[in-house]
Amino acid sequence: MRVLQNYVGGQWIDSTSRNLRQSFNPANHEELLCKTQDSNPGDAATAIQAAENAFARWARTPMPKRAALLQDFLSHFKSREEEFVRAITRENGKTLRESRTEYLAALKEADFQVGQGRRVAGELRPSELPGVSCYLQREPLGVVTLITPWNFPLNVACRKLIPALIAGNTCVLKPSELTPMSAALLYESLHAAGLPPGVVNLVFGVGSVIGDTLVTHPAVKALSFTGSTEVGLGIAKKLAGRETKIQLELGGKNPLVVLADADITKAVEAAIIGGYSCSGQWCTSTSRVIVETAIYDTFLRALTERAKAIVVGDGTEEKVQMGPVCGKRQYETILDFIAIGRKEGARLVIGGEALTEGQYAKGWFIEPTIFADVSPGLVIAKEEIFGPVLVVLRADDLSDAIRLANDTRYGLASSIYTRDLAKAQKFIAESEVGLCHVNMHTAYKEPQLEFGGVKESGRGDPEAGDSGIEFFTRHKTVYLREQS
Ligand code: NAD
Repeated sequence: MRVLQNYVGGQWIDSTSRNLRQSFNPANHEELLCKTQDSNPGDAATAIQAAENAFARWARTPMPKRAALLQDFLSHFKSREEEFVRAITRENGKTLRESRTEYLAALKEADFQVGQGRRVAGELRPSELPGVSCYLQREPLGVVTLITPWNFPLNVACRKLIPALIAGNTCVLKPSELTPMSAALLYESLHAAGLPPGVVNLVFGVGSVIGDTLVTHPAVKALSFTGSTEVGLGIAKKLAGRETKIQLELGGKNPLVVLADADITKAVEAAIIGGYSCSGQWCTSTSRVIVETAIYDTFLRALTERAKAIVVGDGTEEKVQMGPVCGKRQYETILDFIAIGRKEGARLVIGGEALTEGQYAKGWFIEPTIFADVSPGLVIAKEEIFGPVLVVLRADDLSDAIRLANDTRYGLASSIYTRDLAKAQKFIAESEVGLCHVNMHTAYKEPQLEFGGVKESGRGDPEAGDSGIEFFTRHKTVYLREQS
């Protein structure tokens, strides 16, 4: 049985707690995948200290040299694609195809950020005075803590780590308790690249046990957190009044609007991809489908037929299109939401049950589920379910659809299907989100663009794109006159 160790100061080490946690396969919860360190606050402090010791030298290393070391990391990362893909599927439950998509997305984003290492230094501005140079210099922050969720264990870790390192910070990563294997593999690639000891550190453990130290330790100058709105905003409160810079990427309740003039087949496909990929556990998953009355019945029929055809099973099997959900807590939460939806009187069109017989007996499997005719005040129309559950609402027209789409505390991603450019532009202007799509599913993204939400879906600079490095730097304004 593989025991995953923490990575601190360039060494693989055990937690001083001497305790281990077990990780199981969500497709077969009797299959023990690995054991990991059950770290304590002291382990977290040791990792922060290692990062602090390494900071001055790493910050002085020229940015293109840091980028060259990370190129070596990328070479190693590329040579282990199959291991990453299998690890993600086994610990998270998503299908091999989805895991490969995640791996390739992580690679593309990392590649883009490493490329930034030759262009993002500062900005030159003209001066009013002769002989004076004015410029803005970006400087690293120091030790940064990176806390990641289980739903994109590799992509989210890379999205934070690579720009933080390129910018000259030293890092401590705490991955989710549920997905330690991809984090360990990632650190093997970082180790193989020969980064100086202490530049990257990894601490396994439970958020409620080591989280406080990781976010409030005085040496930590920034926190980049991706996870639930409840935990993220709780941390923000704790850090209020402190110098620590924060970036929070949180939950969503993402709407897909389908207008009467839309290509229904394509809109249905977008709802299926957005709603059921990764068993609905994308932060940008489609959760609400808002359909104009004129095509409501036709759309719902087509969506239901398509959802019925989804093949559910163990993600390691090629034919499977939707895997289990990631663990017991997720499973119970999603089934609770389904029970609430039923109790609230929403019309259950398909699904709504756990799959528990035969091949499903040992896994956390839930049927693709659709609730229709949902009124906007219901809990299932408001809360992030984070599972394979689509909630369908009826809209009178575009304005009504926008009103419904914005009727949420979240503001991560949205999409509209229409052939009418003017309507699409009205939607873009009025949709209260960080990521807006037209005739594309809610989760589409590219690495050169920023990624983040508004309202209770995010705080601070977004991730990725130019903002990726921006968050991990502070600006210094310089006025320089040469002495004659
Ligand atoms: P979570 O909030 O339960 O946990 C996220 C991370 O925080 C984990 O590593 C956990 O151990 C840690 N944590 C828990 N309590 C902590 C504490 N008190 N202090 C410090 N760290 C603590 O979220 P999750 O269930 O792992 O992930 C699912 C959530 O993440 C969903 O809400 C999803 O929408 C969101 N998410 C958002 C984005 C985005 O970019 N907006 C991307 C992926 C996931």
